[in-house]
Parts: sequence; structure tokens; C-alpha cells
Amino acid sequence: MFKILQKSFSVGSATADYPNISPRLAKQFRGCPEFEFEVWSDARPAAEACPTGAIAFHDSDGVRRVTVDYGRCIYCGECEAASVDGAVRMTRKFELAATDRRDLVLTAEYTLHPDGTHAGLQLAANGPVLEEPGKRIAEAIQNLLGRSLAIRQVDAGSCNGCEQEIVALNNPVHDIERFGIHFVASPRHADMLLVTGPVTRNMELALRKTWAATPDPKLVVAVGACGISGGIFGANYATMGGVDAVIPVDVYIPGCPPRPEALLHGILLALGKTRQRTRSHPFQ
Ligand code: SF4
Repeated sequence: MFKILQKSFSVGSATADYPNISPRLAKQFRGCPEFEFEVWSDARPAAEACPTGAIAFHDSDGVRRVTVDYGRCIYCGECEAASVDGAVRMTRKFELAATDRRDLVLTAEYTLHPDGTHAGLQLAANGPVLEEPGKRIAEAIQNLLGRSLAIRQVDAGSCNGCEQEIVALNNPVHDIERFGIHFVASPRHADMLLVTGPVTRNMELALRKTWAATPDPKLVVAVGACGISGGIFGANYATMGGVDAVIPVDVYIPGCPPRPEALLHGILLALGKTRQRTRSHPFQ
């Protein structure tokens, strides 16, 4: 017993101070791809290499419209390998959570050349970034909900990759309970549903019932590429696609799977949206 206590004191706190301090990322960690639209001369190879259809293009009247959907991206790196002009590169960025699905889609329009390449960029849209002061998180939760935040996690058909990262939120390193956030076993006790996976048709009714059983005001967070768009599965005979095909979603957290800090970032973003949602939500 004495040795255990001695060891505990000598090691000190293992909890990471995210979001006050950027997390220490493993050397091999890979975040989202970044696109240098100004120098991108041909989106076709990347679009053809992308396994989820996150990169797409449409040619019309001498104009090429290129879209990049972070809600579909699984951070595989195939687009970087396929882009010979170096316009696409993988980064270590992971804080991409957004309250509006459209914020996850980048759009660029180019003048199309006869040989199929393009130039003459007009950038149309970009994604959001949230900066939330971590020291006021617990206080903000108390103000918004009057107590701590209770999350019910719902696996609507995931591969369990996202669950691995969600479980890590409770370990001593990430320790989500330091913010007054904890997981509960029943939607009736929950303020937030954290939903993973493409919604399988077998889980559609269960997800609808879980949403209905969660008391108002409630928040829904779609986790990972599958939760946002159906990911690599899309919508097919067995899956409905993303969570918002079944229930309304307040925040989308991209990644495959999103690392724990990305999950925390998205949960905090959802908390900042509570008042707006209760005013404007079409289902309430
Ligand atoms: S990193 Fe994302 S955008 Fe690039 S090929 Fe993979 S899924 Fe597609």
C-alpha cells in the first residue's frame, strides 16, 4: 500500500490539460488533409483515389467545381499520395467539430483547361474553428444546464473505433469528469446523445426511441465520418447514412475515429449551442 502511494506521488498527475494546452500527439498521428487550392492544378487524381468520395468535382461550361467534405474524410492520406503538385498534404489538425454540416464542406471553382487541368481559383467556403477557454468549461456547463452534463452514448452501427476513443475520455489522461461531464446508462438521465456509426436500418427505430426518451433540452452529437455522412458505408440497403438522416444533430465531429481531444472539442461546441437550439429547433 505504501509503495502504491509512493508511486502515485512520485508520478504526479497524468491528466492532460487540454484544451488549455495542446495535446502531445504521437509521432505517427495523422490529422485531416489540408488543401492549397491556389496551387491545385488537377483535383481528378485525388478524387479518384479518395475511398469515401470526400473529394468530388463537377465540370460545367468551362468551370470545374471541386468540393472537399470533411464529414466524409477518414484521414487515410490517399489524396496526398495522388496529388503530384503537392497541393494536398496531411496535417496533424483534428479540431474540426462544426454545428452546421455545411461548414465541413470546402468548395472551390476553377477555370477548366482543355487538357482537364484547372486554374483561376475562386474559393467559396471554409470550415469553422472553435476556441473555448478550458478553465471556464465546468462553470459554463453549470450555467447552461444548472448541473453537470450527462451523456448517453449510442452505437448506431459503428465498427467500435469511435467507442475506443470515447472510452478513453474516461481514463486518467483525458478524465472528462474534471469538467463535470459524465456518461449515464439511460437516455432518460441524459442531456446529450453521443451517436456513433452509420445508422444501420436495424438501429433506426432504436435511435428514434432513444432520442424521444431523452428529456428536453437535449443535444445530439454525431461522431466520426460514419456518424456524419455514413462514411465508407454511405447509405445503402443496410444503413441510413449519417445520424442526421434519422434525428436532428447539433454538432458534427469529423475523424475516423476522432481522437479524445477532438471529441471533447465537439462536446464543448455543443454546449455553447444549447440556448440557440432550444429557440430554433424545428422538432421542438
Ligand atoms: S484523407 Fe480524406 S479526402 Fe483524402 S483520400 Fe482519404 S478520405 Fe479522401
